[in-house]
Amino acid sequence: MKDVYLSIGTNMGERYENLQQAVALLKEEENIEVVRISSVYETAAVGYTDQADFLNIAVHLKTDASSANMLEICQSVEQELGRVREFRWGPRIIDLDILVYNHENIETDNLIVPHPRMYERAFVLVPLVEITPTPFGDQLQQAHNLLKQMDCESEGVSLWKLFNEPLTVS
Ligand code: AMP
Repeated sequence: MKDVYLSIGTNMGERYENLQQAVALLKEEENIEVVRISSVYETAAVGYTDQADFLNIAVHLKTDASSANMLEICQSVEQELGRVREFRWGPRIIDLDILVYNHENIETDNLIVPHPRMYERAFVLVPLVEITPTPFGDQLQQAHNLLKQMDCESEGVSLWKLFNEPLTVS
């Protein structure tokens, strides 16, 4: 089984429900086991800033899906939740990114892992670090090191729902 870490974000509609539904759809996949879900963090939009704040989580999965198959699964969850996005960096119902896939470096036409922007973004690193208290491998270690150098408050990341009120999935 491969260890996979995803980042999930949403800033449209019922944001918490969007996260719940995305996790529920991942759990429905027969070759995916959801191991751990982070607290929910609220984040001011990056890039195009004139849009609603995001909710972000990180999820640790175990799967025997290939990285290409994992990307297809992420995209099918996005489609199922009716992702509508008019322009890059714009509002979205749900966005699933593969941050880490089995601690491998992958570069194909449609998949780059570790995710090219994960090391720059506190809203990705904060939940990822929370669910990897004992980081394994260079990529997660790097995530921990970089987060220490960031000021999460000035990056607009704040705790929205604690881990001890775990994201409930019906
Ligand atoms: P975005 O929704 O803006 O994050 O970008 C989606 C596009 O990024 C898709 O066409 C994917 O093929 C591509 N992509 C490249 N690397 C990744 C990754 N690690 N996780 C998810 N999508 C990726």
